[in-house]
Amino acid sequence: MMKLYLCPDCKRLVLASRRAAVDCTRCGRKNLPITKLSFLEYSEMSEEKRQEYAKFQARKIKEGQRKAEET
Ligand SMILES: [Zn+2]
Repeated sequence: MMKLYLCPDCKRLVLASRRAAVDCTRCGRKNLPITKLSFLEYSEMSEEKRQEYAKFQARKIKEGQRKAEET
């Protein structure tokens, strides 16, 4: 079963089978967070939609990290 991971740094969606750790294939960031997107959903999205989703999710991840650092 393929899963989608998102790099919050360069907003790249990385498709990978479920492993312990997935690295970004573009910038090399380690341990990418997993998205709720299924492969089926992803495959039905246009390239534009994917980028929109990646941008939105990356911002959510960044905001979550900032909150975690503050507390
Ligand atoms: Zn990256």
